[in-house]
Order: sequence, then structure tokens, then C-alpha cells
Amino acid sequence: RIVLLRLGHRPERDKRITTHVGLTARMLGAEGMLLASNDPGIVQTLEDVVGRWGGHFYIKNNVNFKQEIRNWKEEGGKVCHLSMYGVNLPDVTDELKKCDRLMIIVGAEKVPPEIYQLADWNVAVGSQPHSEVAAVAITMDRIAEGEPLEREFSGAELTIIPTERGKHVIENIRD
Ligand code: SAM
Repeated sequence: RIVLLRLGHRPERDKRITTHVGLTARMLGAEGMLLASNDPGIVQTLEDVVGRWGGHFYIKNNVNFKQEIRNWKEEGGKVCHLSMYGVNLPDVTDELKKCDRLMIIVGAEKVPPEIYQLADWNVAVGSQPHSEVAAVAITMDRIAEGEPLEREFSGAELTIIPTERGKHVIENIRD
């Protein structure tokens, strides 16, 4: 079980990247995203995608990140903060793979310094600056069990049939 915690989202400039963080986490098997800012538009956008493309993925708007981290840990979950300053992902992949419940945290600009203390791991996806979307994608892909790109999403209105050229989409009939 993986949940994504998105810190520092600024509604006026981070809409697209936060949406992409959520979509990427969903695609790679996270159960939901916690948004530590107030942006109902993000919730709407992601819920629309889940409605059309299936599966189960929740979005919790405007969470108190300290409370969420505390609750998660009390329930036995572990916390992995992605930061280019952390230990390099290849060195902790095996430990992360062993977690039953993992919260992955990504920031936008600077994260509150206490996050480095609250996290069980501060993990760099290479020690170079890049993007929270890439950091989430690479981390989740490396720790996935099975092949995350072959995941099926139940109850979808739309299903893509992979094809060499063009677009092949099936509209599923719902009861
Ligand atoms: N300048 C910010 C700082 O000093 O923390 C980082 C900005 S970066 C665009 C936004 C987020 O992407 C970070 O909070 C981190 O979660 C993620 N990120 C960027 N590069 C990363 C890397 N090399 N490894 C892990 N996470 C990374």
C-alpha cells in the first residue's frame, strides 16, 4: 500500500505538476494522494480521471501534513521523503520494498525542514535536481512488485487497447 503526500502545492502555479504527480502515482499503484494545500480543482480533475479510467484512487484536499504523517506512523506505516539531498535510491530500494505501508512525500519549492526528521528515509532519485513527477515515477517503478505498467483498472468507462499505430479505445458499457 502506497499513499502520496504532496507538500507545498501553490494553486496559482502548480496545478499541472500536482495533477501529474497524482496521475503518475495512480498509474503506478498508489491508493491515493493527500494534498497539503487547499485546491478543490485538483481533486475534481483527478476524480474525473478516475471516473473515466477506472480503479480506486482517493484525493484528500487540504490535509494537515503533520497529522497525516503521525496517523500513518501510528498505524505502522513508514515514510519516504523524496529529496535530492537524501540517500540514493539504489541504496535503499530493498528496504523500501519490504514496507507494507509506505507514504511517499514530494515537495514543490522548499519543504518544511522538519520533514527531514519526520521521514524514515530521505531518498534521492539521483543527487541532481529534477522533478517531483520523475522522482515519484522512478521510485514507484523501482519498488513495484510485478510489472506496474500492466496494471488493470477496474470499472473503467474507457480502456485503451495498445496498438502499433493510431488509437484503439473501448467504451465499456456500465450497468
Ligand atoms: N528546490 C527545492 C528544494 O531545495 O527542496 C526542490 C524543488 S523540486 C522541483 C520539487 C520536488 O521534487 C522536491 O521537493 C522533491 O520531492 C522532488 N525532487 C526533485 N529532484 C529530486 C531528486 N533528485 N531526488 C528526489 N526527489 C527530487
